[in-house]
Amino acid sequence: MANGSVRVRFCPSPTGNPHVGLVRTALFNWAFARHTGGTFVLRIEDTDAARDSEESYAQLLDSLRWLGFTWDEGPEAGGPHAPYRQSQRMDTYREIARKLRDAGHAYHCYCTASELEERRDAARAAGRPSGYDGKCREVTPEQRTRYEAEGREPIVRFRMPDETITFTDLVRGELTFTPENVPDYGIVRANGAPLYTLVNPVDDALMKITHVLRGEDLLSSTPRQIALYEALMELGIAKAVPSFGHLPYVMGEGNKKLSKRDPQSSLNLYRERGFLPEGLLNYLSLLGWSLSADQDVFTIEEMVAAFDIADVNPNPARFDLKKAEAINADHIRLLDVKEFTERCAPWLKAPFAPWAPEDFDEAKWEAIAPHAQTRLKVLSEVTDNVDFLFLPEPVEDEVSWTKAMKEGSDALLRTARAKLEAADWTSAESLKEAVLAAGEAHGLKLGKAQAPVRVAVTGRTVGLPLFESLEILGQEKTLARIDAALAKLAA
Ligand code: GLU
Ligand code: ZN
Repeated sequence: MANGSVRVRFCPSPTGNPHVGLVRTALFNWAFARHTGGTFVLRIEDTDAARDSEESYAQLLDSLRWLGFTWDEGPEAGGPHAPYRQSQRMDTYREIARKLRDAGHAYHCYCTASELEERRDAARAAGRPSGYDGKCREVTPEQRTRYEAEGREPIVRFRMPDETITFTDLVRGELTFTPENVPDYGIVRANGAPLYTLVNPVDDALMKITHVLRGEDLLSSTPRQIALYEALMELGIAKAVPSFGHLPYVMGEGNKKLSKRDPQSSLNLYRERGFLPEGLLNYLSLLGWSLSADQDVFTIEEMVAAFDIADVNPNPARFDLKKAEAINADHIRLLDVKEFTERCAPWLKAPFAPWAPEDFDEAKWEAIAPHAQTRLKVLSEVTDNVDFLFLPEPVEDEVSWTKAMKEGSDALLRTARAKLEAADWTSAESLKEAVLAAGEAHGLKLGKAQAPVRVAVTGRTVGLPLFESLEILGQEKTLARIDAALAKLAA
């Protein structure tokens, strides 16, 4: 579909840290806009003063930029429907709420919370639908006067048409909602504050949104919004009802819905662990979509070229951290090595790096980087993998030590030291031969022979390819560390 008239929106509320579900929604909207040559609108739904914060707002924009999303209209970008922060559009909502009331599409509801609850309970007990019962649909002038004398402050409620609403969801196909399942609903609080139920479809109408792509959790608000849209069309405020597509739930551990509050869902976590934005987006795109059955790793450009909302799978998607890391690892390998070294920069200094800044050696880093690049799942792992090069002494990891240092390790280390002293230090191959020969002298295969050497030199049982590591560290330091390990074994 090439269609420059597509207009989609991503409309987060700035409450707390962005989570992966939100990023997936942004991604699908963005990819759909880019694929169709349409417009991607960023709107900030910050009408809930109690929950929204400037800090979250700043973080949201920063996150979107880090991910590489660009918006055609929205905060900072501007556009024909500015302002794009709902907190700055309150007059518009007030006026539209009034028009809806004047036209009879909405009415004042004077019921108190306890009255509503009482009637809800009674309806449930009688097996009737328990939503709002329409009591205030026809309030007489006398009743109104009495309510007001009682000091009741009304909310504004939208009058749902008494008819079945059917629409074709772009992901889930035809869906039908009967009136008893969609009761009249509040659109303005008693204190005059407009609710999501009003401001979201009103802005979609005013901003001429053509496709609403959002999470399945919002499916129940769609019939209400369609009815409100139709009222807005009657008032000449909206032109057409947009198409809706509801993206599948994302399931986390134990097959429970991944919630915003799950630590696993925090975008910052992935950023701090050194996911590449392209790796994370590639993975998140698979939560409901795929490029092809046999290709999990692709670029964002490939996704954009292929993306169609009609291909989104309605079944719940499972969030799988291992798979996310594997895909990220592939993206790390796709970088050119210079780009890789640059992207690692944050993890090679404080607060992540434990070494003194003056002990960092750029040449050694550049030498080891290609080996690191093929091994990392996330960039933050680089620190532990290269710290042996920049710390005066290897880290002390008792678990590694106990695992590698067996009976006879001292004898092996002594032989290895002698052979390494005589080896050609311009070739990792020669260092390998040295350790191989030392192993043979003690009846050990290479794997067993290199374990104590690795722990003596790097402090850990696992790490980057050993002989290249030794070569880059240099002969003097390598031998000194073996000596230190021998001294520790003797003690
Ligand atoms: N502000 C709403 C949210 O973050 C947007 C929902 C929608 O896309 O309609 O949940
Ligand atoms: Zn009422």
